[in-house]
Amino acid sequence: MELKICHLYPDVLNLYGDGGNIRCLTQRLKWRGIGAEVTKMPLGSKESLKGFDLTFIGGGQDFEQEVLLEDLHRGRDRELIAAVQDGMTVLAICGGYQMLGAYYETHDGKRCDFVGALDLYTVGAKTRMIGNYMYRVDEKLGGFTVVGFENHSGKTRLGSDVEPLGKVLAGFGNNGEDGLEGAHYKNVFGTYSHGPLLPKNPDFADLLIKTALEQKYGRAELAPLDDTLERAAHDEMCRRLEKHP
Ligand code: GLN
Repeated sequence: MELKICHLYPDVLNLYGDGGNIRCLTQRLKWRGIGAEVTKMPLGSKESLKGFDLTFIGGGQDFEQEVLLEDLHRGRDRELIAAVQDGMTVLAICGGYQMLGAYYETHDGKRCDFVGALDLYTVGAKTRMIGNYMYRVDEKLGGFTVVGFENHSGKTRLGSDVEPLGKVLAGFGNNGEDGLEGAHYKNVFGTYSHGPLLPKNPDFADLLIKTALEQKYGRAELAPLDDTLERAAHDEMCRRLEKHP
């Protein structure tokens, strides 16, 4: 068994070590004797997304999001829509998550028309939403708690075609108003959680791996790993955020 992983726009969307999430996925696959082949697709890459099992898109500032628009609308947008409809597993973080939606309007009124693969849009606010935060993913996806770090001005609103990824327990999430965090549609997972999201949240890492393997091979039983350290880091952040939400 093997997963083909695409790191889309690693040159422009890679804040706070977002790319480390790929190292976490490949290591967890390796520990289970499953192969992983990672391909970076920077701006200008002509390589097709076809044949990839999992795509990772990190976060970026408004500036980087504007920089990638030209490349995106040269056909990558249509390809992403097709891949999402086709059931490709995607993890998209912050700016990458916003990019899969319909558009992002910055707080000073600049509009970026994005991919439209997910039924959501984002509008920038003057005050940024920054800090460690915590949410609980939907029961259907496992009902586990995710700890992460968010830093965005964009307030994301979900349309009726996507489900929220989870409910905010501490911090802001999608917009700091409706208590929702992230989006889930087919096999796409969008979240505001930057940095070492997957190392600190092994349940989330395994949800992605299982989703991609099931899509490719029909079924997947993941051998359990010793996550003592990972769970200790996760639980410590939960304790801190419970005290100071
Ligand atoms: N530019 C977006 C915002 O501020 C995304 C930022 C990010 O990816 N951290 O809302």
